[in-house]
Amino acid sequence: MSKIIQFSPPYIDEREIEAVTSVLKSGWITTGPKVKEFEDKLASFCKVEKALCVNSATAGLELVLRIMDIGEGDEVITTPYTFTATSNIILHTGAKVVFADTKDGSFNIDPNEIERLITSKTKAVISVDVAGVPVDYQAIIEILNSKKSLYSPKKGSYQEKIDKTLFLSDTAHSFGSSYKGVPIGGQADFSVFSFHAVKNLTTGEGGAITFNNLGDVISEELYKKIKLYSLHGQSKDALAKFSSGNYKYTIELAGYKYNMMDIVAAIGIVQLEKYESEILPKRKKIYETYYKELSNDDRFILPENSDDINYHIFPLRLKNYDEEKRDTLITKLFENGIHANVHFIPLPLHPLYKNLGYKIDDYPNTYNQYKNEVSLPIYPSLNFDDLLYVIKKVKEFA
Ligand SMILES: *Cc1c(COP(=O)(O)O)cnc(C)c1O
Repeated sequence: MSKIIQFSPPYIDEREIEAVTSVLKSGWITTGPKVKEFEDKLASFCKVEKALCVNSATAGLELVLRIMDIGEGDEVITTPYTFTATSNIILHTGAKVVFADTKDGSFNIDPNEIERLITSKTKAVISVDVAGVPVDYQAIIEILNSKKSLYSPKKGSYQEKIDKTLFLSDTAHSFGSSYKGVPIGGQADFSVFSFHAVKNLTTGEGGAITFNNLGDVISEELYKKIKLYSLHGQSKDALAKFSSGNYKYTIELAGYKYNMMDIVAAIGIVQLEKYESEILPKRKKIYETYYKELSNDDRFILPENSDDINYHIFPLRLKNYDEEKRDTLITKLFENGIHANVHFIPLPLHPLYKNLGYKIDDYPNTYNQYKNEVSLPIYPSLNFDDLLYVIKKVKEFA
């Protein structure tokens, strides 16, 4: 056996390499004009007022909780069916993680569970568009509105200014998807994309926060505030100091070091240029081939298929499978050169969350989605013969 079909190698060619080289030669390599250009292009792609680049989605998610002053004594509702980044950041702030189970038969959080779990301590809901499939944004927004009387904001903070439970969307998977015909990015109060190596659009590592005006708080103010938090709370970034010839700056708050570099933004700009013309259609073709070839076989439970998704992951499920059978299938595929994956190991199964007292038995829908799930290789450069080989082997071993 010689051939290896990877799970999700990056789709990088000479164009990204040239763009990076040009930044390296320009004399300005950290946060500067390329980051600004990438932000403007992201905002217009996502049809939002502002996009703000950071060095990862994790950093972006945390910044949003920080500017909202969420911390000890607060509760944040999120899904157990996600990568640990989504909830680790809640722990970082000192707030309590409250898991809401997924909807029966879906990888996404159940809005009714959110409704059941909201208390006067709930300061935010963080949903996840698992596999690029948008959550039921409208239902979540309606629930947050209907529970408004429970909301008790911290005085003098943005919590008070926005006067509602914060709705933060972890859109690490859903760049390029849309909800009711509108690109993902502006549905929740804030959305945070990841440009990590395996994501739909990549910069190696990176992320972006997108948002619009929020109640009385205008997006420009939010942008300035989050920028400040993302770079040491420093009143001027390096480029501003450099170009004004004035070294003076002030430190306004204990910020973080979460800024994106121009080297990285240059990759993102090229990826964005080829997103709709190459990345998305190639993914779509692979997804639809899996769908067509596996859908008329009753051993399989197929994932959602619609024009609104970005075909980020192909999460196949197998009927009457348990964890052990699923893991055997993954091993057999691996022995035949095919790298499959599982999205996700539910958070309550990890030692960190077990030790905090969370039990998988409390999230039966989550467990049922996970126990028989296998994510098949999907990436723009996966050629058709390899794709057919994967399908053949999946059918053979299932
Ligand atoms: C990848 C991922 C993240 C984290 O993204 P980074 O850019 O690596 O910080 C967060 N949430 C989900 C659901 C992810 O899959």
